[in-house]
Amino acid sequence: MRVPVLTFLGAAGTVTGSRFLVDTERARVLVDAGLFQGLKPLRQRNWDRFGVDPAGIDAAVVTHAHVDHIGYLPALVRDGMSAPVHTTAGTADLARIVLPDAGHLQEEEADYANRKGFSKHHPALPLYTEEDAYTALGSLRPGPFGVETEIAPGVHMTLRPAGHILGSATVSLRLGDAADRTITFSGDLGRSHHPILCPPAPIGSSDVVVMESTYGNRFHDDVDTLDRFGSAVSRTVARGGTVLIPAFAVDRTEVVLFHLRRLVQAGAVPDVPIYVDSPMALSALAVYRRAIAEPAADISPEVAASAREVDLFDGGRVTEVRDVEQSKALADLHGPMIIVSASGMATGGRVVHHLRRLLPNHNNTVLLVGYQAVGTRGRMLADGAGEVKMLGRHVRVRAEIVDLGAFSVHADQGELLAWLDTADGPPEVVYLVHGEPRSSEALKSGPRRARRTSDGRRLPRRTGTPGLTARIDAVDALWSAATTCVAVGRVDRRLPH
Ligand SMILES: [Zn+2]
Repeated sequence: MRVPVLTFLGAAGTVTGSRFLVDTERARVLVDAGLFQGLKPLRQRNWDRFGVDPAGIDAAVVTHAHVDHIGYLPALVRDGMSAPVHTTAGTADLARIVLPDAGHLQEEEADYANRKGFSKHHPALPLYTEEDAYTALGSLRPGPFGVETEIAPGVHMTLRPAGHILGSATVSLRLGDAADRTITFSGDLGRSHHPILCPPAPIGSSDVVVMESTYGNRFHDDVDTLDRFGSAVSRTVARGGTVLIPAFAVDRTEVVLFHLRRLVQAGAVPDVPIYVDSPMALSALAVYRRAIAEPAADISPEVAASAREVDLFDGGRVTEVRDVEQSKALADLHGPMIIVSASGMATGGRVVHHLRRLLPNHNNTVLLVGYQAVGTRGRMLADGAGEVKMLGRHVRVRAEIVDLGAFSVHADQGELLAWLDTADGPPEVVYLVHGEPRSSEALKSGPRRARRTSDGRRLPRRTGTPGLTARIDAVDALWSAATTCVAVGRVDRRLPH
């Protein structure tokens, strides 16, 4: 009997491009189909030939609707993948917003490159089109949490809440036949207390775990975060400035609005107008509202109950900004206000126009509320850049920059290790993916490291280690060369491809 094999096609030594392949004797299953994002050499990998023939994939599963986990699906389907793509209802709903938008952006970028003539390809082509994205949506097969389903011969899948964004799931694949092994993918793991979602569900029993490590070297400091959030808004309002919050269209906008409403209600933050300037964020907000009203299985029961009484996201000062003219008109408004706009790492979207206008004035504040990948403008601002380039100009940074990493949708080191501890018995091996090398390595060496909060401040060392005795291995970039894969049956040996 052939031993099942796990191959890392992406998210190895980096936080994007999640793509993993599980091959058994009878089936080939793809878990996640993400785009590479961030620095150019990474983005160029989206153009490489996929590691295997898309037509040979028997089933696919996607963990959640972020582009670095599902954004490559349209290319795969166009290139011949006819397999069903299993996921949750929440992810399918969000994918209907996210994927066509991604296709549209690709077309816009190609169009821009052709007009400006800066591409070495003539003509520059999009990675895929909006139409490809709509076609790919037809492959989605939404299913419930917690129900085991045979998705390919001998491969039994269970999705469990991951608490990261609406619909996000961990994926357990029980490889039947003679192998009888279970492999669990964390996808992206949420915090232990998302304000809207249920926390990540326990792993269950698993021989092999593939776990994200975005914040493997960080500890979020929650007590302080809401205070810092509130005081940054209050300070800015007192100066008569604007608070700009670059927010990921899915989930961060909801969490920011949720906290703002509560802080205003508690009198901790002045009641000023809030503009949500992102059509995609507004569409995602509508999906969240529907899921809460339902309520979906991953919505926290307290949130579902309180939503019957009040609007959780709007205390009466929220304006939804949909069209471009309305967005431009925000520049003419005076007086303190809050603008929430995408994209979250300031790599594109309407937020870039707001940044160009607001950064040079010291009365304003930019609040960073999510992970800022290397090479993005958000990361440059978080790192204290005095100047950033945008829309063809160098823009001076005089506005206050506040980095609130604890708003992140990703578990920190303690939460990642705590999730591993929920397994029924330690897994034989844990592969760390989806992290920059220093994060993965810090998590691998675990609690011995000095601890820092997500915004870089030192915390005292803790004593004691979790009860975990699994072997933990950090997957590095070489692993994704598609020539290196690991046997799920015999974890101590790497097999040639
Ligand atoms: Zn994610």
